[in-house]
Amino acid sequence: MTVETKQTARPSFDAASLRGDLWIGGAWRPGRGGDPIDVVDPSTGEAFAAVADASEADALDAVTAAHDALPAWSATAPRKRSEILRRAFELMIERRDHLAELISFENGKALPDAIGEVTYAAEFFRWFSEEAVRLNGELGVAPGGANRILVQHQPIGVSVLVTPWNFPAAMATRKIGPALAAGCTCVLKPATETPFTAYALAEILAEAGAPAGTVNVITTSKAGPTVSAMLHDPRVRKLSFTGSTEVGRRLLKEAADQVLSCSMELGGNAPFLVFDDADIDAALDGAMIAKMRNGGEACTAANRFLIQSGIAEDFARRLAERMGALTVGPGYDPETKCGPMVNAAAIEKIDSLVEDAVRRGARVRLGGKPLDRPGYYFPPTVIEGVPGDAEIRREEIFGPVAAIATFESEDEAIALANDTEFGLIAYVYTGDLSRGLRVSERLEAGMVGLNRGLVSDPAAPFGGVKQSGLGREGAHHGILEFCETKYIAASW
Ligand code: NAD
Repeated sequence: MTVETKQTARPSFDAASLRGDLWIGGAWRPGRGGDPIDVVDPSTGEAFAAVADASEADALDAVTAAHDALPAWSATAPRKRSEILRRAFELMIERRDHLAELISFENGKALPDAIGEVTYAAEFFRWFSEEAVRLNGELGVAPGGANRILVQHQPIGVSVLVTPWNFPAAMATRKIGPALAAGCTCVLKPATETPFTAYALAEILAEAGAPAGTVNVITTSKAGPTVSAMLHDPRVRKLSFTGSTEVGRRLLKEAADQVLSCSMELGGNAPFLVFDDADIDAALDGAMIAKMRNGGEACTAANRFLIQSGIAEDFARRLAERMGALTVGPGYDPETKCGPMVNAAAIEKIDSLVEDAVRRGARVRLGGKPLDRPGYYFPPTVIEGVPGDAEIRREEIFGPVAAIATFESEDEAIALANDTEFGLIAYVYTGDLSRGLRVSERLEAGMVGLNRGLVSDPAAPFGGVKQSGLGREGAHHGILEFCETKYIAASW
């Protein structure tokens, strides 16, 4: 039984104070691409503010600003760059509640999730403030003894950063942090669903001391041509993209024209394996996080629950109890545990995936249909006996739907888990550590949660294999994505 909040009135939110012009070269300016773009509150389906629409010329102005700022910024002492990032971290934490409310308004996620996101996002500034002063090279001797091998990491240059709506703060800081730490300047193009968080970050970075032009932010209703114009500008040397695999494939082709360095964080289809020797309570706790964080709108969300057959019935019943007890409502309502989806298209996709699974034989244990109330609400849903040919086994659900199927043996579990073009993350629950490590090694995924439903950490390398992406964000790897390796053969 899903609990709904009452249809509460929207709390007063000072939309007039939001900055929604383009942020280029350290100044606000209107867009020349057309009328301002409405930003909708998913909790009601109504627009609450609008942002500027950048033209291709605006985007190229942003590249100019980033290019002009590059020489001084890349020559700025690492300690100074570090301290600016550190200050930006502190400002984010000071303004956590305001930023969280903003995220909740434009994205819809429940406030506790939004507060969690702000903390996680700020940590990327702190982590990369620490990495900025640890970008060490190598010194070796050529095996033949003729020369020294000197290796250093230089900033790659002007970077185009494209981010999705599901983590509007964290996906931006995960790119801006390492770019600035490495000595690069950037143009950020956030999703138009959640632009205000990106503009708020631009203000914070400026206040923290990031010089004009080091970080530019543009919103546009014409993402394809606008990003393409930047990727074909010879002053741009890097694309860092987070979003769907479909758009990622397209951007890789665009980036090929200038042989741009690409970091791609793409879609997922995470398997969540539970063996019958697992601690079921721990597996349920992990499932609630892996499935319900952000209402399921996470690239790391558990997409396919694969449960060993002897415990599947018990697991499904208890998961449905836990998910059914979550209160659904506007993200900014303090009672809410599961907010609305981001837009109407998200609801249609989730609905059609559930319908398809049911048509092919899956059984609905909880939820199953969009809620009949204003806004974009899909209730927590559990379906079981999901057959192998159901689309939900192949596609990212991106919503609060747990699709459960069963397996008999370890080999079958691994084969089912790997039967996807994606490879971002997998979850494994077992009481046998050697089995856990053995299975983790055989899973085709960039990340594995072993007896854990949450793996994201700024200090760990985040990223996928197969069609889930290229490169890693966070950890020391993240800063290297914004560097070129220079080898100097030297004799002395
Ligand atoms: P999306 O691919 O539709 O959009 C992502 C960004 O790309 C947005 O800024 C959008 O405006 C822009 N975009 C869209 N079409 C474009 C084009 N033709 N050219 C240039 N830019 C374009 O993705 P979304 O719906 O915003 O986000 C959800 C997706 O992001 C999911 O697939 C999710 O798995 C993925 N994601 C991945 C990670 C990760 O780290 N791997 C993290 C978060 C989200």
